[in-house]
Amino acid sequence: MKRVATHELLAEIGHLKNVLEQAGIACVVRNEQLSGGLGEIPFIDCIPELWVVRDDDLERARAIVEQQWRGADESSGWRCRNCGESNEGQFSACWQCGKADGDA
Ligand SMILES: [Zn+2]
Repeated sequence: MKRVATHELLAEIGHLKNVLEQAGIACVVRNEQLSGGLGEIPFIDCIPELWVVRDDDLERARAIVEQQWRGADESSGWRCRNCGESNEGQFSACWQCGKADGDA
C-alpha cells in the first residue's frame, strides 16, 4: 500500500479513486469517516487520503493524479486553425505561428 494523494475534500479523493479504478488501478480511501472525535484527533489525520493497493501502481497513479489536478487548473487545449498546431489552454495565441485563437 502506497499513498498517492491527499485532499481536504473527500469528493476530490472520491473522484480520483474513480479515475484510477477506471485505469485498472486498485485503490482505497483512508480517513473517509470524519464523524465524531474531531476534538481528539489532530486535524492532519482527518484529511482524506488515497492509497494504491499495489505498490507497482504508484508511479502510474501519481501521473494520473497529476494530470487530473493540472487539467483542473487549465482549460482544455485548442488547435490552431492556421497551422493545425495544438496549443495549451492558457495560451491565447498559437505558439507556432502567432495566430490568436479565433482568428480566421
Ligand atoms: Zn498556428
